[in-house]
Amino acid sequence: MVYSPETRTGYGQELAAIKDAGLFKVERSIHSPQSAEIRVRFPAGAPEREVLNFCANNYLGLSSHPDVIAAAHAGLDDRGYGMSSVRFICGTQDIHHQLEKKLTEFLGTEDTLLFPSCMDANAGVFEAVLGPEDVMIADRLVHASIVDGMRLAPAVRDTFKHSDMGHLERKLEEHQDKRRRVIITDGVFSMDGDLARLDEIVALAKKYDAMVFVDDSHASGFIGKTGRGTHEHCGVFGEIDIITTTLGKGLGGASGGCVSGRAEIVEMCRQKARPYLFSNTVAPMIVAGALKVLDLIFTDTSRRDKLEWNTGYWRKGLVEMGLDVKEGDSPIVPVMLYNAKLAQDMSRDLYDEGIYAVGFFFPVVPKGAARIRTQLSAAHEKEHLDKGLEAFRKVAGKHGILGLGKNEIKDRFGL
Ligand SMILES: *Cc1c(COP(=O)(O)O)cnc(C)c1O
Repeated sequence: MVYSPETRTGYGQELAAIKDAGLFKVERSIHSPQSAEIRVRFPAGAPEREVLNFCANNYLGLSSHPDVIAAAHAGLDDRGYGMSSVRFICGTQDIHHQLEKKLTEFLGTEDTLLFPSCMDANAGVFEAVLGPEDVMIADRLVHASIVDGMRLAPAVRDTFKHSDMGHLERKLEEHQDKRRRVIITDGVFSMDGDLARLDEIVALAKKYDAMVFVDDSHASGFIGKTGRGTHEHCGVFGEIDIITTTLGKGLGGASGGCVSGRAEIVEMCRQKARPYLFSNTVAPMIVAGALKVLDLIFTDTSRRDKLEWNTGYWRKGLVEMGLDVKEGDSPIVPVMLYNAKLAQDMSRDLYDEGIYAVGFFFPVVPKGAARIRTQLSAAHEKEHLDKGLEAFRKVAGKHGILGLGKNEIKDRFGL
């Protein structure tokens, strides 16, 4: 073997190509706790400034809630900093079991298993419960972690067009020869903010003898009357075979995820899911914080109610000023701009006005579907929303897009 510096370096061209394509990602460092008001330095070296955050998954405003912080402190004092072990050797405390029990009750399932993250839950679950005789039929817009998890499983992979129930039904018919069929969907789709038609999906699953898998990461804690998730919203609480979700969004925002569902399925994950078997689980202080988060949600729906009010107010304000907003029932409110450069320019101008909301464009969303995705939080007060709306009015006015529809924006800016 000849030593070649190119083996270790030589990535310059590829990195330059990423930059040339306008796809280079730069982290923006926040110098404060996560909240509605954050202090940011952007670009690096620029002075620190306070901005209003409209792009966090901090839906319930619990990321820096005093009760959650206090509970995490107490957990740290009572149970230490970390486990230094995977679950089945000596990495399980009583509080891990308590949290799993509480999540089971919250999600309306039979059992729950914690994972280091929801990405890991999705990476482990399909391989653990499916074999080559089975088929996975996934909505085409499911989250990247589901796509990766499906790649690891030995089952047949298939997809259906986004939320197209006719197409899903044809696929279910086509796969009647398989041992097991699993319909796979996100509860709330993160880019468009739309909800899966879980009532119809559950009905199809019954008709064609299939299981239903839902990743409710963008729903747990705030979608549905008591915040249990998309299944509550759609009237099929208690009827989902497998739910995965994250503790890293509405449920406190720290980290961790779970597989929850039918007892046998969860038991299969406990026996076979590799991220569970080979990686440490959630640290004690996060478990303690998450227990408090669930207490808060169980005893009081005021945060999810406030989030709902905030979302309605924000959505109405954007629509009334003449912006093209995607419809939906979630606190994900995408302002459609179609053109990638327009999305980037507007995001920068909004930042100059003290509003932090990032632009999304290909490959995160389809070509010609660029947008600024705004996300609401129960941490937003009405003054925050009014300030945000005022900034959108000013910046959209500057770019001349108020009152323009999709075709007019596309004509004027191109794609
Ligand atoms: C954020 C997200 C994940 C990843 O969650 P982590 O716990 O941060 O790994 C998985 N699935 C969906 C649908 C998500 O939105």
